[in-house]
Amino acid sequence: MTATAELPMKITRQAPISTWYRVGGRADCLASPSTTEQLVQLFGEGQSVRVLGEGANLLVKDEGVDGIVVSLKQGDFAAVSIDPATHFVIAGAGVDLRRLITFTTKQGLAGLEVLGGIPATVGGAVRMNAGGSFGQICQSIASVTTIDPDGYEREFDAQAIDFGYRCSGLEQHIITRVAFALTPDDPTVVRNRLRECMDYKKRTQPMGERSAGCTFKNPLLLENIADIGAAGARVSAGKLIDRAKCKGLSVGAATVSEHHANFLTTQAGATASDLIELMTCVEQRVFDRFGVKLDREVVVWGRSL
Ligand SMILES: Cc1cc2nc3c(=O)[nH]c(=O)nc-3n(C[C@H](O)[C@H](O)[C@H](O)COP(=O)(O)OP(=O)(O)OC[C@H]3O[C@@H](n4cnc5c(N)ncnc54)[C@H](O)[C@@H]3O)c2cc1C
Repeated sequence: MTATAELPMKITRQAPISTWYRVGGRADCLASPSTTEQLVQLFGEGQSVRVLGEGANLLVKDEGVDGIVVSLKQGDFAAVSIDPATHFVIAGAGVDLRRLITFTTKQGLAGLEVLGGIPATVGGAVRMNAGGSFGQICQSIASVTTIDPDGYEREFDAQAIDFGYRCSGLEQHIITRVAFALTPDDPTVVRNRLRECMDYKKRTQPMGERSAGCTFKNPLLLENIADIGAAGARVSAGKLIDRAKCKGLSVGAATVSEHHANFLTTQAGATASDLIELMTCVEQRVFDRFGVKLDREVVVWGRSL
């Protein structure tokens, strides 16, 4: 994978926003910068700037979004290289995580294969600290370069970033580039681990359906719940949703998956409103049954007014 040539910034008005749910409204303005300089220019417009990654953890309301939506899938943001001095793998924020994992696996570099099967751009995965049973992306990061909310470029060593469960503390920043510190290993061993992670996901999750992965974060219990967990434990939101008898529940053309209760899926004709109503319904049922308040992992975009 190599850097692509600099391109002029493309601006599209009333642009569709591509998400895995395949529902929701348009962006008033979609900008596609190919360099940091072009990206920084957008901060002078006096409008909100939000980044669209792979749209794999995103629900856009039917009304669409105002301000500027930025796509970083081209130019410098789509480049991958290996730093000859540090051997760090440097990836632009718009690089497809699955393609990056294929690349690092072939190079015999271990670390990212534990994220096998997670749809994301590098920037979206770092912002969400994506991960699962096999590990989280923060474990492989050396440093992250961002544009801060004032439009200035910043670089953070991994130790200075407040990574947590599905969060990075970088929610107000635009991630532009990430350096990964990976471990040399036998490519066959790395490939086998990647297969194991992907097989696990295929077995346990409805990967072929339209969803945003887990809708809700696994909650920390405030008190013991029989057959679920002890106070202080982080427990499976899917288990709570299942036990609250939500599997198969539908609003319009949005449904709680029978395969994995924390996955809400959309079928043809679904709207973002269907999904939001279904989320609210699941939250209410879990609260009524267990007294547990679920937090949404899925990011929801709408108009600011
Ligand atoms: C089938 C399926 C399975 C999934 N399995 C998992 C899983 O196992 N583990 C897991 O953690 N997640 C999982 N997810 C959720 C999703 O893959 C992750 O949250 C992923 O990190 C989202 O990345 P994205 O590029 O699609 O971000 P988007 O969905 O496009 O955006 C999500 C948020 O990140 C922000 N963002 C995106 N790019 C940047 C950037 N460059 N700088 C700053 N902010 C940015 C957006 O503004 C938004 O707030 C799954 C999703 C699906 C559809």
